[in-house]
Amino acid sequence: MSRKPESSDNTGEQLAPALMHDRQCSGSELPVGLEERIKERARRLGFALAGIAAAVPPESLPHLQNWLAQGLAGSMEYMHRQAEARYHPRYVFPEVRSIVVVGLNYKPGHWVSQEELPAMSGRISSYAWGRDYHRVVRKKLRELLRWLQAQVPECRGRIAVDSAPLLERDYARQAGLGWFGKNTMLLNKRYGSFFFLGALLTNLELRPDPPLESSHCGTCTACLEACPTQAFVAPKILDARRCISYLTIEHRGPIAKELRPQIGDWVFGCDVCQEVCPWNRKAPPGSEPELQVRPELAAPDLTAWFEWSEEQFRQHFAGTALWRARRDGLLRNAAIVLGNRKDPRAVPALCRGLWDSSAVVRGAAAWALGQIATNEALSALHSRLASENDPEVREEIKTALASAGQLPAITAGMVR
Ligand code: SF4
Ligand code: SF4
Repeated sequence: MSRKPESSDNTGEQLAPALMHDRQCSGSELPVGLEERIKERARRLGFALAGIAAAVPPESLPHLQNWLAQGLAGSMEYMHRQAEARYHPRYVFPEVRSIVVVGLNYKPGHWVSQEELPAMSGRISSYAWGRDYHRVVRKKLRELLRWLQAQVPECRGRIAVDSAPLLERDYARQAGLGWFGKNTMLLNKRYGSFFFLGALLTNLELRPDPPLESSHCGTCTACLEACPTQAFVAPKILDARRCISYLTIEHRGPIAKELRPQIGDWVFGCDVCQEVCPWNRKAPPGSEPELQVRPELAAPDLTAWFEWSEEQFRQHFAGTALWRARRDGLLRNAAIVLGNRKDPRAVPALCRGLWDSSAVVRGAAAWALGQIATNEALSALHSRLASENDPEVREEIKTALASAGQLPAITAGMVR
């Protein structure tokens, strides 16, 4: 599917002046067939999908506003802050007249099944298995922009990969790349939903592709039913506050106790509502070298994480998508996964977590030790309670002891 990026030379690709027509860019004419050549160039750079949308207000803006007004975005304050900028792509790039939208396939060739997952491990969403996709997509789009500028010297552009207040998914639909599935992902008949989106906003007035008006979910509800936390309020409406991806990546602070067991073994993100989608089953795997799985990310040893310094976390995860959760978030998630797996061999690592400098990590480790509830785990909780000063962590420890049938009162002499 994807082909290796070419060198940026464009020998033989300049068009003769006779092939110009009257579409404009700052008063200049654009080459005939430029749109097809842009998409072809994008495919040569490795993008599975490429299309063009007009620079108009996004159609799904009212849906987004409703979603934000209902509080379904959780603590993603930046979504509220950027709400106005999403009204029109000119807030991202004032000169914009067209948007080239691309999709980079990252579907893995193989998933680690629950049976294959080592005892001390957890699952990481497959989008994070390789190099940070922002960098990979951005690098390719920069090449595309350079190539386009060689064709049309007046061309100016701005690249957006998840970082700008742009509803990329909306423009991808408008550009004919797919439809919105009931799991809120953009779905493409050939590539399913395992692809990263990126956008090149340009001052060229390109001919837009026709949008895909039809939906191909039919009567299927597999994603809605499979979600471990029942995060879908309705088809296409996600309550982010319940979504494992949000909880393990975006959310700072403790994760609600009632959701912890449902997180299962997901230590960063969640793929369930994509894995069950029939359109993903037959999609071809991606072949982008920079997105190929790093073995240590497909099935990491979570107990080792509790021995790492901040610097070691940085060394392991800087340059990958995991770094967004930062050390404290990753250790919090690791503790929850180890608590869910209930393997006593994780107790020494969780005991270290109980003395971590971060209260969030200590609280999650306390909960996990309460789930495992061996003598060693309970004894560690008792001794930590004697010196823990953070009120929330104290509460976690007491609850963990109580859930294991051990009222903290038995350590009355040590408890404040
Ligand atoms: Fe549910 Fe996981 Fe999909 Fe979130 S990512 S909606 S938790 S299945
Ligand atoms: Fe649509 Fe079914 Fe895929 Fe959900 S699982 S997105 S309902 S096709």
